[in-house]
Order: sequence, then C-alpha cells, then structure tokens
Amino acid sequence: MRALISVSDKTGVLELARALHALGVALISTGGTARLLADAGLPVAEVAEVTGFPEMLDGRVKTLHPKIHGGLLARRDRPEHMAALQQHGIAPIDLLVVNLYPFEATVARADCTLADAIENIDIGGPAMVRSAAKNWRDVAVLTDPAQYAPVLAELRDSGRLSDTTRLRLAVAAFNRIAQYDAAISQYLSAIDLSAGAPAVDAPPPRHPFPGQFNACWTKVQDLRYGENPHQQAAFYRDPEAPAGALATAQQLQGKELSYNNIADADAAWECVKSFEAPACVIIKHANPCGVAVGEGPLQAYRKAFQTDPTSAFGGIIAFNRSVDGETAQAVAQQFVEVLIAPDFTPEALAVFKTKANVRLLRIALPADAAATRNAWHLQRVGGGVLVQTTDVHVLRASDLKVVTKRQPTPEQLQDLLFAWTVAQYVKSNAIVFCKDGMTMGVGAGQMSRLDSARIASIKAQAAGLSLQGTAVASDAFFPFRDGLDVVVDAGATCIIQPGGSVRDQEVIDAANERGVAMVFTGVRHFRH
Ligand code: 5GP
Repeated sequence: MRALISVSDKTGVLELARALHALGVALISTGGTARLLADAGLPVAEVAEVTGFPEMLDGRVKTLHPKIHGGLLARRDRPEHMAALQQHGIAPIDLLVVNLYPFEATVARADCTLADAIENIDIGGPAMVRSAAKNWRDVAVLTDPAQYAPVLAELRDSGRLSDTTRLRLAVAAFNRIAQYDAAISQYLSAIDLSAGAPAVDAPPPRHPFPGQFNACWTKVQDLRYGENPHQQAAFYRDPEAPAGALATAQQLQGKELSYNNIADADAAWECVKSFEAPACVIIKHANPCGVAVGEGPLQAYRKAFQTDPTSAFGGIIAFNRSVDGETAQAVAQQFVEVLIAPDFTPEALAVFKTKANVRLLRIALPADAAATRNAWHLQRVGGGVLVQTTDVHVLRASDLKVVTKRQPTPEQLQDLLFAWTVAQYVKSNAIVFCKDGMTMGVGAGQMSRLDSARIASIKAQAAGLSLQGTAVASDAFFPFRDGLDVVVDAGATCIIQPGGSVRDQEVIDAANERGVAMVFTGVRHFRH
C-alpha cells in the first residue's frame, strides 16, 4: 500500500505517518511535508523523485503529473488501466492525505493583499483530492486531521477500509473542494473593478456583497417535517458558524427538535444574548411574549412569565445565565417546549430528568455577543435570495435625542433602552410596553402600528398588568399622532422611536400636549 501525504496544516500528520509506516505503508510526500517526515526519521520518497521533475514555479507545480494522477485515477478492476500503469512505470497510490493552502484564513486577514490571496489558491491539492475522490472504490482520501484517528483505527482493525468509509471520505473531500472553491469565487467576485484591475500588493477594494453568492452548508439533521406536517425539512450548519450561534447548540435531553422549535429557539437565543444583566426571553411563534431582566435567572423568568402567562404555555425559553435548580423548578411548573442556556447546574438537570420531553439546549455564550451573530441574513424569494447584513445595531444612551419638553428620568431611560432592545426582536409593526426591566405588553406583527399598540394594551389588561407609568418602544416612526395617543391613553409616560416621519412635528406636539417624554433613536428595527 502506498500513501501520498501533502498537507499545509501539519496537525497530527507526523503521528499519522508514523502509524502508516508501522502498518507497512510506503510514504510519498511534497517538499515541506516530506522534510517534516524525514526529520522525524521516517522513510519518505519526495514527489520530485517519483515524477522525475523538480517542484517548480514556487510550488505552483508539484504534483500535477501523470505519475501522480495516473496512480490515483487508475481503476484497479480494469486490466487496461493496470497495463497502462505498468507500461509507463506508474505505481498505484491507495491513500491520499491532503489539506489545502489556507485560502480562507489568508483572505480573512484585513491586510491580505491580492497577491497573498492568489498565491494561496491551491491547484495541485484540489486536483489530487478530486482524482482520489472520483476513484473512491480503490483510493481513500483524507482532507481533515479529524479523520486521521478513525481511519487508522479501521486500518488496524480490518487491514483495509470499507467501501462505506471510502465513499464517506470521498463525499467529505468533494464537500471540502466545493467549500474551498466557493470561498475563492466569493472573494474574487467581490473585488471592485470599477477603477480597473487593482494593485496586487495591497488589499483590493471590495464590494460589500460578492458577485457570486455561494453557500456550502452541511446537514445537521433531517427534521420530521417543516413548518407544517405536509412539508419536508432539514437543518444545515454554516461551516463557519461562530461559537455561540444556535447551530453550535448541544442538546442535552428531550424530544427531537422540530423545524418550528429551531426557528423559535434562534429568536429566543438572539434576543437574550442582547442583555448584559441576567435575562429571560419567552418566545411563541417567533415573537417574544415575555422578556425581563432581573437579579438572577429566577427573578428574570418570573417577570418574563408574568407578561403573558397564556401565551407562555408551550413556549421556548432562553436564559443568558446558567440555569440553577430553583429556576428549573419554577420553569418546570409550566409547559415548556425548549429551554436554552449557556449551562445548567446538576440540580437543574435533575429537575428535568423527570420531564424527558423537554428539550434542553446548551450553547456557549462568548463575552462578545455581537461576534456570535451571522454576518448575513438571507431570505428566499421566488427564484432568488435576498441578502442583507444582520441587524446588529446596538443603541447607546448617548445616541438618543430627547425631542420633548419633558426629559426622561434615569429610570425611564433604562426602561426605554430595555423596551428598544426587545422591540428589535418583535415582528413589525412592533409596540412594546415595559417597566422595571420587564415587558408589560407586546403588540407584534400587525399591518397597522395603531393595531399593534391596541393589541399590546389589550394583552396587558388580560394579564392583569397596569400600563400606568410604562415606557413604550415603537420599532419604526409613528406616521401620525394617533399611535402616540393610543399608547399614552393606555398609560405610557415615555416613548422611544426612530423619528424621521414627515409628521414628526405633529407627533412631538402631541407628546408635549400629553406631557410625556419622547426620545428619537435615528435608527429603526423592521423585522419581517
Ligand atoms: P508542502 O508543505 O508539503 O511543501 O506543501 C503541501 C501543500 O501543497 C498542500 O496544501 C497541497 O495541497 C499543496 N500542493 C500539492 N501539490 C501541489 C501542486 O502541484 N500545486 C500547488 N499549487 N499546490 C500543491
């Protein structure tokens, strides 16, 4: 058996080569990799010896040779193929170990020049990977150090790799090549050519969006069905999913996640990550039906639940703190579909032991929550896809413009900022009443802002909450004074909204007339 090893990422390669050598496998390798193996005392033939050609053109041409590709591509079950190998003095290669020039990591650097990017486009590596993967019945191809240990174990146990293993490896290899080529195409097609070809010794000017949008996602699981039982569905992960994103969640217990569970869990998790204080978010049908901050998770949960106990039934609940036993006890009193948190104490896990259906998701919460969000937001339309950067705007108190005679008090200001953060996660038109770090009434997803305002106050009433002295957030401007009148009639004493309507003055005059404080944010948060 012969193996060709040519890797940029040398992680684990020495251990692999040693183990292969111990199994009697002959080793061939390219310059840098060959030196590493030879320095460790392993017998290794350089590719240049095999091809009779030196590596040339700064390594651009190393393995692109019939002696290599013939050895990878020949069908062992075709006598003519084997005769051709013999005739040309080509030895078969049975195992290929390749990982590619680090193109993605190179272009991720802010100072990456066009020349750096181009030199990091691997040519011979992907060519060999394709040859080996195409010939998977006879050749095994490893493209990731994580594959080394299991493949070695199988080789040791069975003396060979099964057809299933080789096919799996071939699929992984083609996936890797697709991902790699997608990254190259995306990088190059984002270069702005309006001023001609850019200088190669500097980072090239870029369009915010590439001319070619390629997504290479990996299936996490098939789902029982989609939004409705007659729809089929699956869940995919972005290979570059940042730590702290929903797709990195670990399910600790409970029934299989459904399509709607995952969508709502994402909404809950994204919202709860926005708060620094201990917070709890309860989601129903993609909208928050209760959000609160508190001294700890228990208090936050109790407050969030109070907003709308009826809707909270069967909700998806997220915390930005570890869930302890007490909090788990409280949550376990209600029907909950999914619970998401950075961690669960052993006491909390014990509480849910007896509730085997409840899905518990653990997701690491890195300090910088903004870095855990997707760079892009996608939405399918017929025959196309809309792409935008994610709505990650974080409002600071210093960004606010007070537009009324009355100034908000420091407590009101805190509630306004809280309400504004929640409104970002409520489907438009969004009206959110809050007080003391808790939602008091949420009006979501209406075609008229006026109706969202009315619904929010109806829901508060139904939950037995008083809206007197509340802060209210509107995700977009009030086009007329009537929306403001509805929220003030309901009891609001301060308002946060983007401003920017042609009738801003009418709305400001109304606020002054009603004696409430109002601040403008200058940004809006449509969410559809
Ligand atoms: P080494 O460090 O062993 O000198 O180089 C290993 C890298 O070279 C691997 O990432 C492999 O994919 C790449 N490689 C192998 N053959 C060729 C080739 O013919 N052309 C280019 N551009 N890269 C190659």
